[in-house]
Amino acid sequence: MPPTGNDGLRSRVQEMVDRNPVMVFSKSSCPYCIKVKELFSSLDREYVALELDQCDDGNRIQEVLFEMTGQRTVPNVFVNKTHVGGCDRTLEAHRDGTLQQLLDNNASVSYDYDLIVIGGGSGGLACSKEAAALGKKVMVLDYVVPTPLGASWGLGGTCVNVGCIPKKLMHQAALLGQALKDSRKFGWEYEEQVSHNWDTMRQNIQDYIGSLNWGYRVSLRDKNVRYENAYAEFVEPHKIKATNRKGKESFFTAAKFVVATGERPRYLDIPGDKEFCITSDDLFSLSYCPGKTLVVGASYVALECAGFLAGIGLDVTVMVRSIFLRGFDQEMAEKAGTHMETHGVKFLKKFVPTAIEELEPGTPGRIRVVAKSTESDQVIEEEYNTVLIAVGRDSCTKNIGLEKIGVKINERNGKIPVNDEEQTNVPYVYAIGDILEGKWELTPVAIQAGRYLARRLYGDSNVKCDYINVPTTVFTPMEYGCCGYSEEKAIEVFGEENLEVYHTLFWPLEWTVPGRDNNQCYAKIICNKEDYERVVGFHVLGPNAGEITQGYAAAMKCGLTKEKLDETIGIHPTCAEIFTTMDVTKASGGDIAQKGC
Ligand code: FAD
Ligand code: NAP
Repeated sequence: MPPTGNDGLRSRVQEMVDRNPVMVFSKSSCPYCIKVKELFSSLDREYVALELDQCDDGNRIQEVLFEMTGQRTVPNVFVNKTHVGGCDRTLEAHRDGTLQQLLDNNASVSYDYDLIVIGGGSGGLACSKEAAALGKKVMVLDYVVPTPLGASWGLGGTCVNVGCIPKKLMHQAALLGQALKDSRKFGWEYEEQVSHNWDTMRQNIQDYIGSLNWGYRVSLRDKNVRYENAYAEFVEPHKIKATNRKGKESFFTAAKFVVATGERPRYLDIPGDKEFCITSDDLFSLSYCPGKTLVVGASYVALECAGFLAGIGLDVTVMVRSIFLRGFDQEMAEKAGTHMETHGVKFLKKFVPTAIEELEPGTPGRIRVVAKSTESDQVIEEEYNTVLIAVGRDSCTKNIGLEKIGVKINERNGKIPVNDEEQTNVPYVYAIGDILEGKWELTPVAIQAGRYLARRLYGDSNVKCDYINVPTTVFTPMEYGCCGYSEEKAIEVFGEENLEVYHTLFWPLEWTVPGRDNNQCYAKIICNKEDYERVVGFHVLGPNAGEITQGYAAAMKCGLTKEKLDETIGIHPTCAEIFTTMDVTKASGGDIAQKGC
């Protein structure tokens, strides 16, 4: 949100800019202001000048102008709603002809590009391609700063290189291991000795990622988006510096900017972490099998990585500071954790690492981890081959010159606050994706926000990205999919007395013959009794939870109620059909164990 104190004033300033073809914020005695006003007079152009030294809230207006343009000084000139700048820039624009073009209402040609997008990840690529498809001149810059251990990757951002894609493929590798075990019960016979080859998996996944990187480059070229493999930072309003791998600097200007720089893994800030530990940015391209692994953290990234590493046969321990999957329904999170535990993942609960020491270098080497309890004075030490730190991610917003143009960030977490149109406090700068304050950090969210933003800016759309009821899935060995409120949050929002929770355990048919994990899958819906038992929370723990959740999320968007679920005929035999036959409420305390189909 823009700063609240100046909200009213800001609207007034914006109105002046919008209404007046030439708007000069000035001070009556300033020689530069006089020069600019004389220029417009000499061009026979009417202008409106607001003399800030002669109005009561002049200082505050100057503050607002700084927030909007990154320029604190006067004169501050706008022509046909486009910010031109101060005296020097206005005179320069006059000399090079762009001022005349602006006055002739052809605002875009005064800059190199209509739109520059910083960051070629999920959000940035979607936004730049859509804007180009709408006829705009667009540039996208993407640059990967290597990890402390030297890992780097190609175009496409986190999801494709070091996120969703390699993660889901490694999850699949683990599921295939389980399927191999199950297959014996279905009659498959093979040698007892089954082993997993890390190099083969890594290489094949990396080859696939390479093909995606190439595909993104081709599609940018096909769509006429200029791509620069360079690090971008703002140097002044409407202008960035791009530094390529060889250190060569170039400068580009644009009428509008979209910041989509994403996040990078956070470190622990303890001795040895950056030297001897890896993060998810290193894991998927690791040139050797990580061996006995400690995963630090207990959210999405930590549990997913721990799950597939254990699934391919490694000795895996997860160090949990407090709870599993903060922010998620805790009953579901606990069940996902318990399932991991029954499948060989060890948990060190209520511990945090304090020091990391290399005992022997190698691929993998040997590392000693010292950790302390969060509840007592207990200190433990243990040896591992690899330590994977997954304790959250930092927004890439602190070294891109945002302060030079006055874009506000939340100093505590580096996130960028935006309004519901993804506009920052500086009107020509927008932000999308993981760097947004209070929004989801998910690929499809970044893509939708980017695409819709381009359509609003350059098409005739006014559709905004819908951040409500966003479905998501944690790809733990037993997948957990959800949409809407957790039970805890629903109680907080609606009151416990107004909710009905339906739930059941279930046993996927495919798991019955191998005889595993009976009654460990779980389905739960949270309904608002005050609103026709509308489903406000959907939760499923079981195989293919992502596939199931996606469909029900569409139904929730259409206002799904318990009655509609009951009227829906299931597809038998599937896991998803469980939601059409749920009749035990949590409040009743009824038996939810599944006895047959
Ligand atoms: P990114 O995709 O991170 O792209 C930002 C790009 O900008 C990067 O290439 C970066 O190098 C570049 N950049 C940064 N600064 C500059 C600069 N100054 N100049 C030029 N370029 C710059 N989401 C899901 O929906 N499903 C999943 O299963 C899933 N799994 C994940 C697994 C892991 C291990 C991780 C880490 C994340 C996962 N995510 C998942 C989250 C998802 O990857 C992100 O939400 C998504 O990539 C965000 O897109 P973005 O465009 O905001 O940023
Ligand atoms: P996260 O959600 O921010 O969680 C950070 C985890 O690290 C928490 O468990 C936290 O514990 C722990 N932690 C933080 N500081 C610690 C410390 N000093 N010592 C020990 N533990 C510490 O981070 P994330 O897992 O990296 O995920 C980032 C985002 O990526 C997510 O919000 C998600 O949107 C996206 N993502 C999505 C998927 C998917 O869609 N499947 C997968 C992966 C990531 P506490 O609870 O104690 O704070």
